[in-house]
Amino acid sequence: MPYKTFEEYNMQVTDDVKDRYKNIIEDLGENTQRDGLLKTPERAAKAMQFLTQGYHQDPVEILKSAMFKESYNEMVIVKDIELYSLCEHHILPFFGKAHIAYIPNGHIVGLSKLPRIVDVFARRLQVQERLTEQILDCINDTLKPQGVAVVIEASHMCMMMRGVQKQNSVTTTSGFRGQFEKIETRNEFLKLIGK
Ligand SMILES: [Zn+2]
Repeated sequence: MPYKTFEEYNMQVTDDVKDRYKNIIEDLGENTQRDGLLKTPERAAKAMQFLTQGYHQDPVEILKSAMFKESYNEMVIVKDIELYSLCEHHILPFFGKAHIAYIPNGHIVGLSKLPRIVDVFARRLQVQERLTEQILDCINDTLKPQGVAVVIEASHMCMMMRGVQKQNSVTTTSGFRGQFEKIETRNEFLKLIGK
């Protein structure tokens, strides 16, 4: 099934946020009446709604919609899941990759659902640490696997464009539950994702 495109902008929210963006742009010293900026407050208001749509989505429902009874009980890995989020301290992007693994315990989940729940949690104001935990807990509590592991590697614009201006630093966070708390299982996973 193709993904729905995000066209359901809330008119009231768009209007309110648009007016505020107009003020912000003017406060920053720009002229919102010049040609290139005329529609910018509205576009920015819609972009921000898109980038925070995760508040209106239910990751548990997404996982439950594609859980299947299955006796397979080896490690399942989805790696290099593209991830785009907003740091809640500066409202600037951070982006990178998520790697997820789980060991089934009677149920598997449709593979495309794992990237989708990454999106649901990423499209909110976030810190990378909490994003990692939320993905981990959601899979653990919903699928109830024998174990689950999440690794996120991301670059933060708030570090690259401002502050310390470290262009090449990558922040890595990880979390492990169940079988992945065992060092051998964890190492097997890390090896398989190339860490
Ligand atoms: Zn930040």
